[in-house]
Amino acid sequence: MKGIAFRDRVLVRLFAGNGGDGAVSFRREKFVPYGGPDGGNGGDGGSIFLRASKDVDSLVSLYYQPHQRAPHGGRGEACNRTGATGADLYLNVPCGTIAWELPPTPDDGEKSAAESDHRVCVGEVVQDGDILLVAQGGKGGRGNTSFASSTNRAPEQFTPGIEGEQKTVRLELKLVADIGLVGYPNAGKSTLLSRISHAHPKIAPYPFTTLNPIIGTMMFDDFTNIRVADIPGLIDGASHGVGLGHDFLRHIERTKLLLLVIDLSGIDGRDPVEDFKNLRNELSLHDESLAHRPYLTLANKMDTAEAEENLPRFEKELGIKPLAISAENRDGIEALTQKLHDWARGRLHINEP
Ligand code: GDP
Ligand code: MG
Repeated sequence: MKGIAFRDRVLVRLFAGNGGDGAVSFRREKFVPYGGPDGGNGGDGGSIFLRASKDVDSLVSLYYQPHQRAPHGGRGEACNRTGATGADLYLNVPCGTIAWELPPTPDDGEKSAAESDHRVCVGEVVQDGDILLVAQGGKGGRGNTSFASSTNRAPEQFTPGIEGEQKTVRLELKLVADIGLVGYPNAGKSTLLSRISHAHPKIAPYPFTTLNPIIGTMMFDDFTNIRVADIPGLIDGASHGVGLGHDFLRHIERTKLLLLVIDLSGIDGRDPVEDFKNLRNELSLHDESLAHRPYLTLANKMDTAEAEENLPRFEKELGIKPLAISAENRDGIEALTQKLHDWARGRLHINEP
């Protein structure tokens, strides 16, 4: 598809089907002067569901079709025939899609809804085949037959169908990767990903080269696969919604292991010790559970003299022993790959926090 191929957040308007009205009708048969009531109930309107599908990897189709309607139920009919049921509508979305309901807005108000903070989590679909009701179809009304009683043999009553739910819903995709790369811009995450997987991320000597999360897969001879997500650069204050980081931090919420990529050279004028502390802090500010996620610290750019100089202080002040690598020169990459393979096979327990 041309245009926007990757969409991890879309706004959709959902219109579930209305229930059909109940019917008012009386039997009219030859030779039966006083036929009883025979108005059927209205059919139920169709509901709208999200369905997780492993064959879908982006929300892009909903981005292009943001209005989704389920059919209305049919009116009840004579001869006690119930109106047709509106078919349910299933929207196929990627595994790991979460739905938020935004407050109702007038027709032109979608922009303000998109910006609003008042949102309610409707739920999420995680595994292939998971189903989530997002907009309930309206129930059909009662036909006059259902009002008949011994004292009311010719009821004229019926009830109208109930309106289907109409909602503005924001869908967000949380990528499901095994490992998340976390680090400041220019720490070498993209370079590292290109070394350990078959992904070809953009690599450039300036911040924010990674605008979309990129997933690389590490494939081993024994068919072990590890999915590694490269998350765009984290910057100070990212957990408060400042800068790019926040939007993408949620992509790492589901990863099982984090690789903290630290630029030990401090070439960008930053201090690796501070970088490490800030990273840990940003993660826990964003989500307390991320503070307890197992992680490995990677001391990158060890091919430089500055990094070599910084390493002893880094280890001493933080009391940790990082894995020293050079993504650029591939030093230590083999050892890292081996470690991750062992971890994926359950042979190595990594739990730094
Ligand atoms: P990202 O922003 O974390 O994805 O960082 P990139 O992978 O785009 O790398 C940023 C810059 O650092 C690029 O110019 C890389 O060539 C450079 N770089 C990455 N890894 C190393 C390394 O191990 N040693 C050296 N000297 N430079 C590196
Ligand atoms: Mg990058």
